[in-house]
Amino acid sequence: MTSSVNQLTRQISALEISSKPNTTRPATTQHQKKPSQTNVSKLLSKYAAPNPIQGNAPGTLQKASSTNSIASKSSTNTSRSASPTRSAAPAVPSAKPITATIDIGSYDGGFEIENETRGHAVTGAAAEELALDSSVAFERPTREWHLTDFDIGRPLGKGKFGRVYMVRTKAEPNYILALKCLYKSEIVQSRVEKQIRREIEIQQNLRHPHVLRLYGYFHDEKRIFLMLEFAGRGELYRQLTKYGCFTEKRSARYIDQMADALIYLHGKHVIHRDIKPENLLLGINGELKIADFGWSVHAPGNRRKTLCGTLDYLPPEMVEGRDHSEKVDYWALGVLTYEFICGSPPFEDLSGYNATYKRIQRVDLKIPSKVSPEARDLITKLLQYDAERRLPLVEVRKHPWIVKYRSKGHSTAGAA
Ligand code: ATP
Ligand code: MG
Repeated sequence: MTSSVNQLTRQISALEISSKPNTTRPATTQHQKKPSQTNVSKLLSKYAAPNPIQGNAPGTLQKASSTNSIASKSSTNTSRSASPTRSAAPAVPSAKPITATIDIGSYDGGFEIENETRGHAVTGAAAEELALDSSVAFERPTREWHLTDFDIGRPLGKGKFGRVYMVRTKAEPNYILALKCLYKSEIVQSRVEKQIRREIEIQQNLRHPHVLRLYGYFHDEKRIFLMLEFAGRGELYRQLTKYGCFTEKRSARYIDQMADALIYLHGKHVIHRDIKPENLLLGINGELKIADFGWSVHAPGNRRKTLCGTLDYLPPEMVEGRDHSEKVDYWALGVLTYEFICGSPPFEDLSGYNATYKRIQRVDLKIPSKVSPEARDLITKLLQYDAERRLPLVEVRKHPWIVKYRSKGHSTAGAA
């Protein structure tokens, strides 16, 4: 039954996709394509058009290539080919999409090596729950994807359930992505199969410049693969560790982008609930990208268990186990503002979990004197015990501290 429904959905999506004229393909290219590749790039442009460089519109890809910072940045990397199917990085003909020239680094074979030893096939209801394939998604189906559709490059990181690699689609226009692998059996072991499924389905329907895009997903017997927007400058957390803290200008710009993204998410009834520097990535132009927001769909009980002691960003209503709303994210934004400027979260207490808990409950806030009066005002207005008294996000974006540092030419989505 399920498979016939899936088949039907697949047919309908195929019809829908093929009925749409392609207007985004580059007009000229010297590259010889197999027929299937033409299709791939068409569908990718329309349904999973990654934004490797700048702008969200696939049509801007060619134009954006002239200011391509990925290419210049990665030129310091080894230029060895990433994929067994590309034995040498060719000299680049000018008509070739710029993304084909970007060095994605060398692949260490990690996906295959790990697949030999890690995880096992899942069966029954869990297998059905985790048979995740964006080509049969109810909303916005993509083409059918396989691991063989990508050239795999350097490792980007290790997640809880598997590795993340920088990849490029083999088909033109050779989009750059981050491919994240999740081992199904480990998801089942952690009993988060429903949450992961919801997270993926929600994330695929979000489109905002400061929310990490999920372009598609597919699975094999043991793994799920997520095709994520490539965050070229990596983790914000790493930057914070490197510099200790940020200038108020940089902090204000990040908070502005966060507020913009949160307004969007809340408008879609998605509450993040897990805002912290570790869950924020940076795009190639240094712009902030919220990732891992899928926790928003988790029941508070589950969430508490998965926190593993990280109370620092939680508001009083959550540490006290009371009902909570999207205003938990307002509180977390206040925590983040403080942390960006001061280098550590306001209620952190190294003597332990209980001490942090008490400080949050009492809103035991001590703002160092180096913090400007405007920033102090914003932090205080967000870190209110009573959720209803926290400054609304639209007001955050109008706050003098935010407005003062917003660059004119660099408006975020809400302002654009
Ligand atoms: P954890 O619990 O450790 O955060 P996770 O399962 O949430 O693991 P991620 O944080 O998504 O996994 O990925 C692990 C690491 O891979 C990240 O910390 C980051 O360095 C890198 N990474 C993940 N996604 C991307 C991306 N889209 N672009 C660039 N790097 C990424
Ligand atoms: Mg993470």
